[in-house]
Amino acid sequence: MGSRVHRGSCLCGKVSHSVSGSPILSAYCHCTLCQSLNSAAFIHTLHFPSSVFKWTHSEPHEALLESFSVPTRPWKTRWRCKNCGCTVASYNSKADKWSVWGHQLEKDSDGKTKGWAVLQPTAHIFYETRAQDVGDSLGKWTGYEGLSDRIG
Ligand SMILES: [Zn+2]
Ligand SMILES: [Zn+2]
Repeated sequence: MGSRVHRGSCLCGKVSHSVSGSPILSAYCHCTLCQSLNSAAFIHTLHFPSSVFKWTHSEPHEALLESFSVPTRPWKTRWRCKNCGCTVASYNSKADKWSVWGHQLEKDSDGKTKGWAVLQPTAHIFYETRAQDVGDSLGKWTGYEGLSDRIG
């Protein structure tokens, strides 16, 4: 269970990656950056140590991937597929970890994310800037879970 591999890919499938084991963090993020980057009210973000992240498409990576960062977070390098434009992963050089997003990970035939028991979110983070209320039982935090104020 602990070393289970989770595979993900972009919309067109040319770019793919894998992570393994349990995430350091799995949460629904309501921060304004995630909202703007994805045009979504919130996203399911997962953090993994850099040691378990791998690109799994064929090399050279430069042929398929391009990177960008936003001025307010220069330590985060985001990677997107050159073919479909889908951002698939982000590397945080301060924390030496990768972020991937839950709905780009492999699904089973029922449409459920594989490995959900390990990958499911444990909280709503940066909930103050939410675009909509979420009436589930997970904790709601002003920042990261356990490191900020719980507001729900
Ligand atoms: Zn693609
Ligand atoms: Zn966010």
